[in-house]
Amino acid sequence: MNPSNPDQIHRFVFDDCDIRGEIVTLDATLQDATAHQHLPIEAQALLGEFFTAVSLMIEILKFSGTLTLQARGAGTVPLVMVEATDARTLRGIIKFADGPMPTLKGLTLPQLIGNGVLTLTLDPTQGQRYQGIVALEGDTLADCLTAYFARSEQLPTRLWIHSDGRRAGGLLLQAMPPSNGRAPRADAWETAEHLAGTVTAEELFELDHATVLVRLFNEFDVRLFPPQEVGFKCQCSRERSLRALTALGRSDAYALLNERDIIDINCEFCGAEYRFGQQDLDDLFPPEEQRLH
Ligand SMILES: [Zn+2]
Repeated sequence: MNPSNPDQIHRFVFDDCDIRGEIVTLDATLQDATAHQHLPIEAQALLGEFFTAVSLMIEILKFSGTLTLQARGAGTVPLVMVEATDARTLRGIIKFADGPMPTLKGLTLPQLIGNGVLTLTLDPTQGQRYQGIVALEGDTLADCLTAYFARSEQLPTRLWIHSDGRRAGGLLLQAMPPSNGRAPRADAWETAEHLAGTVTAEELFELDHATVLVRLFNEFDVRLFPPQEVGFKCQCSRERSLRALTALGRSDAYALLNERDIIDINCEFCGAEYRFGQQDLDDLFPPEEQRLH
């Protein structure tokens, strides 16, 4: 059975106790984003976890721009990189160490990445870029991010993620400051946190979001906002590739062309191929005007 809310994110609030949350399920998004990467299912599962995390985080951050989550290390999986935009588009890649395809099954995130770190980058459409370092201090991505939030966020924030490689999904909860001067329900956060932690992959993948929330949080007054669509979309274009060639400079660009007759720029995020020949470079780097004096 397919989930009723695939590739959608719902925000919700518990009206009686100042806790907000989100629930997301990714189906076609994960398959579209990995279609050209030919990955083993465990690697798709890992990418699914990263996609779930950034879609939950960009929604709670409410900013316009791009959020990038990147894991870099010296392990079997030296790179995982995913991006989410405020338009709820996702793209991402995963890289393996040279050699035969390793077994990923049963390994924790720190074991997969090796001696590495997670970097969270917020690139706002306007204003300063922000970068945070997330230590690989938990077995899973959700654990590492939860530890990061515990250290850096003023508001208690926690997330839960499931991914089987074909589908991924998760929940995020955040305690808000008490509104209207009323006293917070002291035990509410602990209860909500405990209940959210009981969510199973089957519930996330096979039930619609409203049903999952009712099942989990039937003792809370849950208000669900309209869903938002999430999907795979790459930001690459022929124009962006041309800008990269411009940045390379005239002599290096022509040297590259002479080596290969044609310059191929492949986008790793979507598999698109952009080809540039002599005429493209001549248009890009017009001959300098002759000086007659
Ligand atoms: Zn692309």
